[in-house]
Amino acid sequence: ERSDRSEEQVSGAEVIAQALKNQDVAYMFGIVGIPVTEIAVAAQKLGIRYVGMRNEQAACYAASAIGYLTGRPAVCLVVSGPGLIHALGGMANANMNCWPLLVIGGSSERRQETMGAFQEFPQVEACRLYSKFSAQPSSIETIPSIIEKAVRSSIYGRPGPCYIDIPADFVNFQVNVNSVKYAECCMPPPVSMAETSAVYTAASVIRNAKQPLLIIGKGAAYAHAEDALRKLVEQCKLPFLPTPMGKGVIPDNHPNCVGAARSRALQFADVIVLFGARLNWILHFGLPPRYQPDVKFIQVDICAEELGNNVKPAVILLGDINAVTKQLLEQFDKTPWQYPPESSWWETLREKMKSNEAASKELASQKSLPMNYYTVFYHVQEQLPRDCFVVSEGANTMDIGRTVIQNYLPRHRLDAGTFGTMGVGLGFAIAAAMLAKDRNSGQRVICVEGDSAFGFSGMEVETICRYNLPIVLLVVNNNGIYQGFDADSWKEMLKFGDAIAVAPPICLLPNSHYEQVMMAFGGKGYFVQTPEELQKSLKQSLADTTKPSLINVMIEPQAMRKAQDFHWLTRSNM
Ligand code: ADP
Ligand code: MG
Repeated sequence: ERSDRSEEQVSGAEVIAQALKNQDVAYMFGIVGIPVTEIAVAAQKLGIRYVGMRNEQAACYAASAIGYLTGRPAVCLVVSGPGLIHALGGMANANMNCWPLLVIGGSSERRQETMGAFQEFPQVEACRLYSKFSAQPSSIETIPSIIEKAVRSSIYGRPGPCYIDIPADFVNFQVNVNSVKYAECCMPPPVSMAETSAVYTAASVIRNAKQPLLIIGKGAAYAHAEDALRKLVEQCKLPFLPTPMGKGVIPDNHPNCVGAARSRALQFADVIVLFGARLNWILHFGLPPRYQPDVKFIQVDICAEELGNNVKPAVILLGDINAVTKQLLEQFDKTPWQYPPESSWWETLREKMKSNEAASKELASQKSLPMNYYTVFYHVQEQLPRDCFVVSEGANTMDIGRTVIQNYLPRHRLDAGTFGTMGVGLGFAIAAAMLAKDRNSGQRVICVEGDSAFGFSGMEVETICRYNLPIVLLVVNNNGIYQGFDADSWKEMLKFGDAIAVAPPICLLPNSHYEQVMMAFGGKGYFVQTPEELQKSLKQSLADTTKPSLINVMIEPQAMRKAQDFHWLTRSNM
């Protein structure tokens, strides 16, 4: 329409790529197809890393992990209709986890809209439930400002996903290069601080605590609050408890970490400071019997709407965790104070930690075969490099693994998260391995998967091999979901009928050789039944920095957690 043929032309795809580049977007995960292939090609040309995945869900998980690990959203690029629908799982997961993400979906041509076009679907509306911002640009010229808004929205305030819908007819349409005005890169998220009087009150509540506890959540990891929090913990000699992904903000082996006495610490603390951790199911809603009925919560969060959920806090500190922790430190600098290390609270916590650790060690030392979870994780923990990324999912595999496998660095643990999502592991591992590769850090990624969890995104092993990412995949295999059958019991069962008639829903095929999936694409595979085989294969996998490997570890199909005072998901407190 507006073309001046003497002028240089640019396609919609190129405008999208340039606008993303201008917003410092460095990664794009996706699956190409009509109509988005040209967008991926244009992005790659500009030096944005394009990672082609095998399912949009895994692509979206990977992109969201980059957002969490770097503070800058990555793109998940998907085709129209089913492509976008597959990505919704990743968007929902990112939304629940408060992670920045930018999903770009191709959509049907505008002039065919409502006519039953190829893969037509109300995509902008569909994404609204899972995003902070969801829109379709009205023209190619408006794409840069929409991308700036989406990137900015994803990282300002509470982070989260945003969606941009690109009609098929925009992708190859050419416009005059001069008609496109690129928005400047948005400013970094503003840093907000808590009210001075609230900080003062919080410090005095902490000073008067008899049994204080700091809880460090993944919000603190995202906020890069590690240095300030460590100073607070050490200066005031306070016990701290990391949430699953808060692990590593301060190393798990820090003497003030009471992770091994988690239930006890929650149950008897009289003052709890929450640094970027919501009082949702992960923290048992902050309610009795898991907590004292009169426990005083001090809540630190960037999201005002979060403050007061489920429990009325004693003090609210609205602001950035790093900034607010520094504000608290100022109070304790002005009037120095330490929690007495000889208190009975420390004694209780230490005692419980000791007995819990002894109980796990006892289980780990059992020599019976097949191995139990504890034996497997103790051997893994022994060999893991301190600076590695740990990715984990599965039910028991993740829950038990978390108690044994240590994290020493912030933002180095990725798991099923707030939404309890299975299938995230391989996407997360790919994202972490890409970062390690690009940072030239030599860091390894170890991905500890249950056999069921592995199945959700198992074909991403091809992605791992295609890009030659030296990920170590460990499949902790109990032949089922929660539990399974050994091969003999399975055979016995089949005497009573076809599997379709008699197999319990929790069962998966016994002795599945998942390692052969890795071998099919040229990676290394190990089938492991004893501690010695586990040690040896893990050693070889970690020594080989050039190749991915999959270690399929057979464990006791009926293996369980050690006895718990409370089950995580009990509803007794509701
Ligand atoms: P966990 O799963 O570790 O308990 P949650 O995901 O429940 O953590 O909580 C993380 C919280 O951190 C969210 O409520 C989010 O609003 C908050 N948050 C994220 N970034 C920041 C930040 N920079 N400063 C303060 N709070 C933040
Ligand atoms: Mg299993």
